[in-house]
Amino acid sequence: MADHSHIEWTDATWNPITGCSVVSPGCANCYAMTLAGTRLKHHPSRAGLTQASKAGPVWTGEVRFNEAWLDQPLRWRRPRMVFVCAHGDLFHESVPDAWIDKVFAVMALAQHHTFQVLTKRAKRMRQYLSTWPMNDMPDRITTLACDIAYKNGRGWQGNCGVATRPLPNLWLGVSAERQQEADARIPDLLATPASVRFVSLEPLLGPIDLTNIEAKAGVGVDVFSGLEFDGDPADDVEFGTATLDWVIVGGESGTAARPMHPDWARSLRDQCTTAGVPFFFKQHGEWIGVPDLKQLPGGSGPGFGACDWSPYDQEHEAVRVGKARAGRLLDGREWSQMPCSPPPCGEGLGVGPGRRR
Ligand code: SF4
Repeated sequence: MADHSHIEWTDATWNPITGCSVVSPGCANCYAMTLAGTRLKHHPSRAGLTQASKAGPVWTGEVRFNEAWLDQPLRWRRPRMVFVCAHGDLFHESVPDAWIDKVFAVMALAQHHTFQVLTKRAKRMRQYLSTWPMNDMPDRITTLACDIAYKNGRGWQGNCGVATRPLPNLWLGVSAERQQEADARIPDLLATPASVRFVSLEPLLGPIDLTNIEAKAGVGVDVFSGLEFDGDPADDVEFGTATLDWVIVGGESGTAARPMHPDWARSLRDQCTTAGVPFFFKQHGEWIGVPDLKQLPGGSGPGFGACDWSPYDQEHEAVRVGKARAGRLLDGREWSQMPCSPPPCGEGLGVGPGRRR
């Protein structure tokens, strides 16, 4: 785990569970998988979780509970945003409910932090949280929380029985790379009890229309308004009261990174600004659109001639300049909006409690 994360939208990562398996094209160049099979290959939290292949390390599907790291957030006194299971998936099919319960017990105890859970297993997340009693935590998690608080050797001062469903300090999100993954995962996110719901569209591998998510055959949902429609405006109905609170977009990084067309990011930015939903542009990734070279230091000068080039389509090209150089400006501007939680903090575009900027 790491305090002071390099991930732009969080402060720290917490990895009580490590290990995973590939589920969709967005996983192909998984950073956590590569790390687990190279630099951390012999670390007890990663050993044996990957196997070698011609394309590099691949997850075996085994997952691991890192008990020694469970109470780490209780020892962080300063409030911060904490990305949970950044090197795995909390709702992976091999993770037993008992482990998830322990993670939730710690999140319920450490209410001075804001936890960010991101999954590609949206159905399991929905099933897990939907079994909780309305407006309350299951007794088993309250008991666990009190047990963990008691065992925490540093004189934990909090109240172990006060958390409710949904946890006020927990943001739930799904990641998706193309329209089909967004269609498959976002409806389950919207049906999951949560204080804040978000999506991470990274690595973005295709255009995504969040105003027309196919929740079921022939039925689209605007995830910003909750409006459900089937093409006939007279039939539009409310899908539910839940809507998205935050959208993160980013291109891919790493040696095998695939280019993200900047127009896909622009479209998502425009969808968010129209809806008044916070938009966070994390990075272009390794590649940048040729017309956007002019916003980089050195512009479109001769230094770019030796780089790799890739066509997005017949009319547009991208050039590989590296993640650091491509940066995170979109049309000359940084987009670092965050959800407002807890309110009030402006017009829905505020910073979370742990942010320093
Ligand atoms: S779900 Fe996440 S952690 Fe698991 S393989 Fe895919 S990208 Fe990696």
